[in-house]
Amino acid sequence: VPAVTADGVSKVYGTGDAAVHALRGVGVAFATGAFTAIMGPSGSGKSTLMHCLAGLDTVTSGRIVLGDAEITGMSDRQLTMLRRDRVGFVFQAFNLLPTLTAEQNILLPLELSGHRPDREWFAHVVDVLGLGDRLRHRPNELSGGQQQRVACARAIVARPKVIFADEPTGNLDSRAGAEVLGFLRSSVREMGQTIVMVTHDPVAASYADRVVFLRDGEIVSEIVRPTPESVL
Ligand code: ADP
Ligand code: ADP
Repeated sequence: VPAVTADGVSKVYGTGDAAVHALRGVGVAFATGAFTAIMGPSGSGKSTLMHCLAGLDTVTSGRIVLGDAEITGMSDRQLTMLRRDRVGFVFQAFNLLPTLTAEQNILLPLELSGHRPDREWFAHVVDVLGLGDRLRHRPNELSGGQQQRVACARAIVARPKVIFADEPTGNLDSRAGAEVLGFLRSSVREMGQTIVMVTHDPVAASYADRVVFLRDGEIVSEIVRPTPESVL
């Protein structure tokens, strides 16, 4: 069973002459335990597709299935609960809360969902990400790469079915970017995590198992086991 599926998904913003067809009948399945990158020119519908897959935005027609749940037609309240249970997010702009320490940021989604943290798992994630000596620091005391690793820890600590990453290395230098991508990749390999990542960076995309290309709201091609050269 794929972790997430889009079936004939279309998304139209606005109406009449002002209508923008952001997605035009997109069908794609994201295998469980796979790391998939979504690429395409600016305006091709990458963010819209990811937001629809994650239940952050509604589709105009078609279906999205997350695990065993069809999310199309769910209420906002149901979607919020489903996201808390099954989805982790990593954004380009880290989105950490400035007044909380790294540890508090990492544990916040778990606390919001009312689950008790699994301390062993927490310690493992922190260890793999090399954040052990940064847990009491606030975001402004951390480098960009460290902040993004905190955001990765926050995304994975609740053991979500899928992590959605939107340009996760967009604000990082290549070395910090490589650390974050290496972690995402190892979480797929070692923990069977499913990851869907939007990126415009061929090097970032080459960490994925598969790259799907969007153009004008349609999937136009894909590459399995990409290299930076084959993605260009
Ligand atoms: P990408 O992420 O590939 O740059 P987007 O998904 O952001 O593409 O945008 C796809 C198309 O939908 C673009 O033409 C964009 O201008 C349009 N669009 C995106 N969000 C909105 C919105 N909230 N309202 C109207 N048009 C939008
Ligand atoms: P491992 O030693 O298990 O291969 P690495 O962290 O060295 O772990 O790399 C994991 C995977 O990430 C590699 O197999 C490769 O596919 C990809 N990778 C590593 N470095 C790069 C890079 N600079 N550019 C593109 N892909 C890379």
